[in-house]
Amino acid sequence: MDDTWPPRYEETYLPDPKDRHWFRDRETLDPEDRQGVILKKIRAQMAYAYQHTPLYRRKWKAAGLEPDDIKTLQEFHKVPLLTKQEIRQDQQDHPPFGSYLCISPGDVHRIHGTSGTTGKPTVYGIGREDWRRIANAHARIMWGMGLRPDDTLFIGSFFSLYIGSWGALVGAERLGMASFPFGAGVPGQTAMAIRWIRDLKPTAFYGTPSYALYLAEVARKEGIDPAREFRFRLMFFSGEPGAGIPATKRRIEETYGGAACIDSGSMGEMTPWMTNAECEFRRGMHLWQDIVFTELVHPESHEVVPYGSEGVPVYTHLERTSQPMIRYYAGDLATWTDEPCECGRTYPRLPRGIYGRVDDMFIVRGENIYPSAIEEILRATPGVGQEFRIIISREESMDELVVQAEYSPEFAARAARDGGLLRQLQGELERRFKTTLGVRTAVQLVAPDTLPRTEFKARRVIDNRNLFTELRGTL
Ligand SMILES: [Zn+2]
Repeated sequence: MDDTWPPRYEETYLPDPKDRHWFRDRETLDPEDRQGVILKKIRAQMAYAYQHTPLYRRKWKAAGLEPDDIKTLQEFHKVPLLTKQEIRQDQQDHPPFGSYLCISPGDVHRIHGTSGTTGKPTVYGIGREDWRRIANAHARIMWGMGLRPDDTLFIGSFFSLYIGSWGALVGAERLGMASFPFGAGVPGQTAMAIRWIRDLKPTAFYGTPSYALYLAEVARKEGIDPAREFRFRLMFFSGEPGAGIPATKRRIEETYGGAACIDSGSMGEMTPWMTNAECEFRRGMHLWQDIVFTELVHPESHEVVPYGSEGVPVYTHLERTSQPMIRYYAGDLATWTDEPCECGRTYPRLPRGIYGRVDDMFIVRGENIYPSAIEEILRATPGVGQEFRIIISREESMDELVVQAEYSPEFAARAARDGGLLRQLQGELERRFKTTLGVRTAVQLVAPDTLPRTEFKARRVIDNRNLFTELRGTL
């Protein structure tokens, strides 16, 4: 294995289409041996960041630490964590890229960033060589999902600052597939997408799970059955936990006639964000540890947790020269395992994906609740339709939780004949929520197509007292 850092990838390399792996030796390496590979890359990445950025120098000096002190992975686990807040503050103090940009601003090749819907936007400055490494990493991981040069990838997400779409595009291009960067978000675009998909029959899809379900719903309204008239054989997702929620995965696979639904994605800042990604066997996202090194730590002690436990991912770039993130504390929740996968890759996995972002979590009567747990129950219950929303209120001293869910059009037809069905479904959902979430949940069933749709990431949690008071009369 070539030890030069930063690594440069052979741009014309492609495996044989029959090969399961892109770099078989690296992907199936004995985990003990991989630790040595990772440590070398960590040391090189840290030395580089220390030399080029005031932020890391400041931070590590304050902790009495120099990159050369890191001689084992155990020592690396002690390097101070980097948080989103620090990055935001640093970019505010040193606009626009912050004091952790290691290249000159003139060498920035692409500028991306967060949308800023949940706070001040963060800007990513990506150098040209990093962009090529991102392309190579994504192509390699997409190969692992099962994509091949004869596939055509339909990209149904925004082409904007949002790096998800661009990351999928650059990976598809490097892999040698045809790309169909359709985008999303323009009025009338979904209806147009449906006609293009029906006529061009792309074999692969990238977007958010919410958008895939919305696209199918609009298609059916136009008299097109996506299970029969589309030809997606593989659909991969990021941006939302949905593709890692078993019931949502099943629903997408059924809706699209058996297309494989694949979960992926870490964070925009961590691009190549596909280093969390499922392989063709779909048993939870692999952590591609030799591209981005991921640890899972306890949310309070910040100690690395053993396999089988729950923790917060901490990400470290291993081959990034423009804006490296070192021990970036994601604030997500996942469990991890090192149990073998049928694909032969020896990377650990997140068997349930990333099922909660700390930002998404809410507390009702002392119970921590993630929207993904509510989604899992709804998607697994026959009769429940497409959209839902969660309404929380904390009035007086009691928290109240209301889930509004649409029933399906098929259910509507049956309920029209049997008036008791609606009440039954409501009671069943309330029982399931009580058992799983541990709190009383009021369920309100509404007709299909009542709740707002999204073409991007769904925002389904509403903390709105007035709306709650209004609804209460009808429960
Ligand atoms: Zn696998």
